[in-house]
Amino acid sequence: MEKRRQMRTAVLSVQAGRVALIGMTRAELRAWATAQGWPAYRGDQLFMWLYARQARSFDGMTDLPRALREALTERAVIEWPEPLRRDVADDGTVKYVLRLTDGAVVETVFMPRPDGRATVCVSTQVGCPMGCRFCVTGAMGFGRNLTAGEIVGQVLVVRADHPEVVGWNVVLMGMGEPLLNLDAVEKALDILWDPRGLGIGPRHTTVSTVGIVPGIRRLMTRPVRPRLAVSLHAPEPALRARLVPVERKYGLFELMQALREVPLETRREWVTIEYTLIGGVNDRPEHARRLARLVRPLRCKVNLIPYNPAPIFPLEEPTPEAVEAFARILRSHGLTVTVRQNRGRRVMAACGQLGYEFVRPEARGPAEGTTGP
Ligand code: SF4
Repeated sequence: MEKRRQMRTAVLSVQAGRVALIGMTRAELRAWATAQGWPAYRGDQLFMWLYARQARSFDGMTDLPRALREALTERAVIEWPEPLRRDVADDGTVKYVLRLTDGAVVETVFMPRPDGRATVCVSTQVGCPMGCRFCVTGAMGFGRNLTAGEIVGQVLVVRADHPEVVGWNVVLMGMGEPLLNLDAVEKALDILWDPRGLGIGPRHTTVSTVGIVPGIRRLMTRPVRPRLAVSLHAPEPALRARLVPVERKYGLFELMQALREVPLETRREWVTIEYTLIGGVNDRPEHARRLARLVRPLRCKVNLIPYNPAPIFPLEEPTPEAVEAFARILRSHGLTVTVRQNRGRRVMAACGQLGYEFVRPEARGPAEGTTGP
């Protein structure tokens, strides 16, 4: 009995001592291969198998010698998030509920497009500490940051399910505030962009922030940058502070200054301004006129997001007429405006809805007497 217990402990410690390879950049894999006593180019081969060919085990890495594959099996693991559920909406959107190795759960969304391309919306944190007043993920509270491997792993899971897709966009707009987890996000971007791996270019990658000014400055002064989307949600500080608590730390004018400083070198670069339209709160014509004056000096596009209802908030959708009037006013000021389709609403996969089932049950109904922001 004691011997069996010791053996089990020994096996567990070997497993615990194995290195997780998903989440390593090509440079890290080369360095790790060298540290194992192998030539550095073995790291390049591993990188290609892990990310371009999406290998799930070392057995199938047929251009590696058998002895090397056996050594890899002893020393390393390939861990992907485990799909617990795939909820499919009528419009083809799929919400993935994924379990991570420690049991934490995140959601990831697949959105196909008519031209054969698709977008995957990935999470960067378990829950979110920002507490935006209309966002279900914010109501979950904060669990922990994801690792680079857990961010890239979401893309691997979704991509493996959809070999028919001809090209991928990745948006870091799922659960969490990416710029509060910037070390892992930057590493994940390096992996996603590497042409010997997934090869999803920077122009096809968007990082969305609610306005973490130091993070914007750090991310957007990198030599290679993703596209940036910034959630404003209100054109003046008092209203914004009611919707987005981060306004009290990084105010609207400081944020606008940081956006003016983003180096946009070609005409194909711009900042996307995200604005969630909430019925009767921030969707009136005067809000549109103020927003136009605020963002017109930027090279930007405005993306209007009609609020996606969640039963935990006493908020209303804007009327179609209010959305149309808001967009018309912005366009009359020379701005490029898109209105986001409410994709995946039936399966609670639309913007602001991720994490609904993880919110405490007692929080899933508006508290008596609440009036919203
Ligand atoms: S909108 Fe984004 S930043 Fe705000 S609580 Fe939700 S996930 Fe967090």
